[in-house]
Amino acid sequence: MKGQCLCRKVTVEIDEAPEYINICNCRFCRSLGAAWGYFRKAQVTVTGETKSYRRDDLDEIFLDGYFCPTCGTCTHYVNFAQPERDRMAVNTRLFEQDELDGIEVRYLDLRGEDYIRTATGKIGDGCAF
Ligand SMILES: [Zn+2]
Ligand SMILES: [Zn+2]
Repeated sequence: MKGQCLCRKVTVEIDEAPEYINICNCRFCRSLGAAWGYFRKAQVTVTGETKSYRRDDLDEIFLDGYFCPTCGTCTHYVNFAQPERDRMAVNTRLFEQDELDGIEVRYLDLRGEDYIRTATGKIGDGCAF
């Protein structure tokens, strides 16, 4: 499955559809505008130039968010604090929605101490994606 940023200079390929998609309301996720699917690193190929942003406003910093420097679309993030952890997240909004049809979407609320799953939907159920 192949997805692209808005200007199409960055391409992200994944070898299979994500098992589920997380839409989270934390500051990081809302600012990046991403809906995350999770993969092992070898499952993801990113081509084209990306830049990363590591936020510096938290006590505990562990994510680098990547984006296209031309159009600003967020493409993926990696956990730099745990490089041994073979997991990364891809912004599934890069992919055609039709290709994601039927995948479970989990809506997460992180305004408190822990994640609360407030709702579950499916791509194509008529709710916003
Ligand atoms: Zn772009
Ligand atoms: Zn989040």
